[in-house]
Amino acid sequence: MTVAVNLKQVNEQIQQACLRSKRNVSDVTVIAVTKYVSVERAKEALACGIHNLAENRREGLLEKQTEIARDQAVWHLIGTLQTRKVKDVIGKIDYFHALDRLKLAEEIQKRMSDERLKCLIEVNVSGEESKHGLSIGELDSFLTRLADFPAIEVAGLMTMAPNTADTDLIRSVFRRLRELRDSIQERQLSYAPCTELSMGMSHDYPIAVEEGATFVRIGTALVGNEQKGS
Ligand SMILES: *Cc1c(COP(=O)(O)O)cnc(C)c1O
Repeated sequence: MTVAVNLKQVNEQIQQACLRSKRNVSDVTVIAVTKYVSVERAKEALACGIHNLAENRREGLLEKQTEIARDQAVWHLIGTLQTRKVKDVIGKIDYFHALDRLKLAEEIQKRMSDERLKCLIEVNVSGEESKHGLSIGELDSFLTRLADFPAIEVAGLMTMAPNTADTDLIRSVFRRLRELRDSIQERQLSYAPCTELSMGMSHDYPIAVEEGATFVRIGTALVGNEQKGS
């Protein structure tokens, strides 16, 4: 399938989800997750009018950027980052979706010069052991501590729903993340505008949009998965 064909499908799904939830389509940004595909396929996505690209690892990001100029896309890093690799991605990404520990905040602070990096705090809403992210209980104090890191702007929250067919469970996870986002917004912290909700992947993005996602991270359903031959 071409990216254009997939994108049409994705846009229709998003449109319908927005209709159901009375949201504006323009409030939802599609991020193409290119971690399973070639640079050529990523370029094809850009040619279709997609502006946002995501990789989950530093290596994949750097590989894509050997052939796609820094200013040709809005770049997202959506996977956890080892502290010692922070220096390799600073200046190369616009959003970091997996802030989940102070050590990482410290390293970002150390490596950024004057600018701020837009970060999303990853929250393990479902509480699954296999998942990265802060527990809901840790979120408040973590957020408070981030006041000490002027290089970090808390742009929003990110989560991954459980991999299940139970759509009610998936929905409850997304809804909870939105409630957490809303309560942070109410604190009106200068360093935490927290407008973004990064949630929804190939199998669950329509639910995420219904529950308020502003960033959906779509890989397989949009650019495919060349490792699996789809
Ligand atoms: C791989 C990945 C995605 C996209 O997954 P698909 O199911 O292929 O859409 C989204 N978010 C994160 C954090 C990922 O690692």
